[in-house]
Amino acid sequence: MDKTWFERAIFFSWYCGIRDCAYCYMSTQPDSKKAVRSKESLIAELILCKKLGWKIGFISGGIGAFSHSRFKEVISDMHKVSGEKFWLNIGALSEKELKDLLPYTCGVVGSIETVNRKIHDKVCPSKPIEPYLKMFSVSSKLGLKNVITIIIGLGESIDDFAEFEKIVKKYKIVKVHFYGLNPQKGTVFENCKPPTEEYQAEWISKTREKFPSIDIQCGIWLDRVDRVGTLLKAGANSISKFPALNKFGSKEAFEIEKQAKLAGREFVGTLTKLPLVDWDSEVNKLKIDPELKKKVLVKLEQYLKKMK
Ligand code: SF4
Repeated sequence: MDKTWFERAIFFSWYCGIRDCAYCYMSTQPDSKKAVRSKESLIAELILCKKLGWKIGFISGGIGAFSHSRFKEVISDMHKVSGEKFWLNIGALSEKELKDLLPYTCGVVGSIETVNRKIHDKVCPSKPIEPYLKMFSVSSKLGLKNVITIIIGLGESIDDFAEFEKIVKKYKIVKVHFYGLNPQKGTVFENCKPPTEEYQAEWISKTREKFPSIDIQCGIWLDRVDRVGTLLKAGANSISKFPALNKFGSKEAFEIEKQAKLAGREFVGTLTKLPLVDWDSEVNKLKIDPELKKKVLVKLEQYLKKMK
């Protein structure tokens, strides 16, 4: 039986220096440089993901939330904890920055969001596509892999698929995150409808058809868990965006696992059942600063309490 799994994007901030992408919750928030997470909270989340069988979709945060040196310090500790290299979704990185982060990086994620240039200019006025395309070229030169994120439902149509196909080919994109618009209060999309299940599936199935070995992740919000089966059948490999920590063990989490089964997939990991783990010994064996270990344990206990 084919497998599927949940991928968690780990966010290090609720701050963004741009804050004008038309669909984004951050664009409705006041400027606050304080909204960044602590290292212990990020590490605790990472440990939970590993033990629950969730893959790490990418590490992300608002542009300008961390300085480069702070980010390097955090990602290096996260690498020590899980031993893996991460996908970085932290804006368009320069060659110098990428070289510096190479030991912890398997590839870069360009949040292109839409390949329709006219719509892009409107919805992402301060986040142009070109710097991401440049980053992809540099990343390939350094032996890293390239990933893009697309939000379905921003006003594009399936006719834009041809442009999408060109970008995937030209920049050797190995993975696509297909999200669906989540209309946020206070944005111009507030009264818009999310994309239909059929339309999200159409983008996925066309991509699967053109690129049989590409990795496709489908973004599922809480209100769309009933479409998981359709999106998996259309060709998605994995599921993301579901608020898996807050909604662990909820009826929606059970529905996702059920939908995977209906699509003929084995669901790797769990969204519903906490495994028996000796969390103290898991944290104690980490090769990180002892003071940090203590703080990680406190955070882990807070998360686990919420999930139980
Ligand atoms: S750059 Fe990212 S976080 Fe910032 S406003 Fe745009 S979408 Fe939101």
